[in-house]
Amino acid sequence: MKIICVGRNYAEHAKELNNDIPDSPMFFMKPDSAILRKNMPFVIPAFTNEVHFETEIVIKIDRVGKMIQPQFAHRYYSEIGLGIDFTARDVQTVLKEKRFPWEISKAFDGSAFASDFYPKENYDLDNLSFRLDRNQTLAQEGNSQDMIFKIDTLIAECSKYFTLKKGDLIYTGTPVGVAKIHSKDILEGYLAHEKVFEIKVL
Ligand code: ZN
Repeated sequence: MKIICVGRNYAEHAKELNNDIPDSPMFFMKPDSAILRKNMPFVIPAFTNEVHFETEIVIKIDRVGKMIQPQFAHRYYSEIGLGIDFTARDVQTVLKEKRFPWEISKAFDGSAFASDFYPKENYDLDNLSFRLDRNQTLAQEGNSQDMIFKIDTLIAECSKYFTLKKGDLIYTGTPVGVAKIHSKDILEGYLAHEKVFEIKVL
């Protein structure tokens, strides 16, 4: 399986990192080795001093498809979850300055966490709130209504380039409020006000 991520899909988040608002979705990928397994702690890697959380709605693809038309995109997934795209921001900043690819800052081991997945019918995908608490204090919150590119558009756009396969995950981008994590943090994710994960940081 592969993990497709979307950068800059919320205008306020693009601004907080001094990025322009894109006129088409910006994609990058993580390999399956990036997955942080459930109930495992997130270990801050030695090569970075600044790992940020990025809390994101995650789509699980359950059908093979390519060149998917937006109006048919809903047929390619039936479950969603909440995840964190862990990002070594200090490393990413250097890579961006050099105009190098981002992989080592974004796709390292443990950098992709996803909760369990739930039937999409349980949610209003156009108005889906989510949040991250850190040590029982609100750290980041968002709502799918603020996405620049909606889920069906993301599926259509990325399937122009990459054949989607059963089990692939799409991380749909993070809202404003990303921040650095610290050792001993407890991160708790809520999807539509229901707790769906807890991660300990080491
Ligand atoms: Zn992200």
